[in-house]
Amino acid sequence: MPPLLDRPARPVSASAPRLWVPKHVVVTRSATDHPHTAEILRRVEAAGVIDVQLLRGDRITSPRGESEREAYARAKATLAVVVAPPSQLVPQPIPPSADWRLDLARGCPAHCQYCYLAGSLGGPPITRVYANLDEVLAPVARLSGTGSVTTGDAARGGEGTTFELSCYTDPLGIEHLTGSLAAAIEQVGTGRHGDGASLRLTTKFDAVEPLLTLPHGRRTRIRLSLNAAEVERFEGGTASMPRRVDALRRLALAGYPVGLTIAPVMPVPDWQQSYGALLDEVAAALAGVADLDLTAEVITHRFTPASKEVLTGWYPRTRLEMDEDARTPKRSKFGGVKYVYPRETMAELRSWFDQQLPERLPAARLLYWT
Ligand code: SF4
Repeated sequence: MPPLLDRPARPVSASAPRLWVPKHVVVTRSATDHPHTAEILRRVEAAGVIDVQLLRGDRITSPRGESEREAYARAKATLAVVVAPPSQLVPQPIPPSADWRLDLARGCPAHCQYCYLAGSLGGPPITRVYANLDEVLAPVARLSGTGSVTTGDAARGGEGTTFELSCYTDPLGIEHLTGSLAAAIEQVGTGRHGDGASLRLTTKFDAVEPLLTLPHGRRTRIRLSLNAAEVERFEGGTASMPRRVDALRRLALAGYPVGLTIAPVMPVPDWQQSYGALLDEVAAALAGVADLDLTAEVITHRFTPASKEVLTGWYPRTRLEMDEDARTPKRSKFGGVKYVYPRETMAELRSWFDQQLPERLPAARLLYWT
């Protein structure tokens, strides 16, 4: 195999993005009371889903299968339309990304073998989308002007109060079935919730076309989750890396503030060449974009005992390194532990990105490294 830098750039297919079509859709009784459900059902029908069940109650039973693997597969193939309960409508601070977390959905149809949702969302991995969109978005007006993560920060205060949409889902991966993301972008972009807020999300999908013409008002920053080519094999069901880079370019050309979420960074063999090639591909894709507003967030791979247990249950044959002995435990103030790379590896990775990011992508502002 030739060195990465000598390889020709990977071509981007002109074909339409591959969109997730759930095999099963369930709608809770309460969800049917919300007008947004009709829009979701219209999209579900247009996507060709045949198995749509309107439940008599609000309880969603866990999918069964003969094995854990089958139960997982059925859950991942299921979209549930539900009402977000009041407890999930209370936004929480989400450092270092944003002042507040706002959830349009919980769960994601992709199959990333390191998925960060594995340790944070319990139960079967059904994708639950929220029918009460107005209630989900209501805190934007209420909380504008508040916040302690980016609000008041010298480098980021100009973004207004920031709301992160991708903590518990990949909002673009399900957008063709919900329309929730476009509604949020449009409402914030046109000032329906006031002028003091901005949205942010990160995605591994590329179906950006419906977003390009929205009146976004440059108030939504869309980051593409990008990585070294070697990490892509752990990201089942997502758009290929070249397609994500192309989506980034199209969003930037449409005037969106954009960003790179380089995550999870892994010291794969020849990682310097691989991440260098990635940064060079992004630089080439964004060359000549007028008024480019580009940020970067760099997050190294980590796992917790809980996420490892869930992920090895879902992906028993994974080749993803999750070896506690090769890692350094890091304790949170709440007593939890996560396993990060040892200090020397972290220092090496960090100093490489600190040097190479400004060199290869001078337009990018690094927001944080972790
Ligand atoms: S795209 Fe993100 S949320 Fe979805 S499976 Fe992958 S890591 Fe998890």
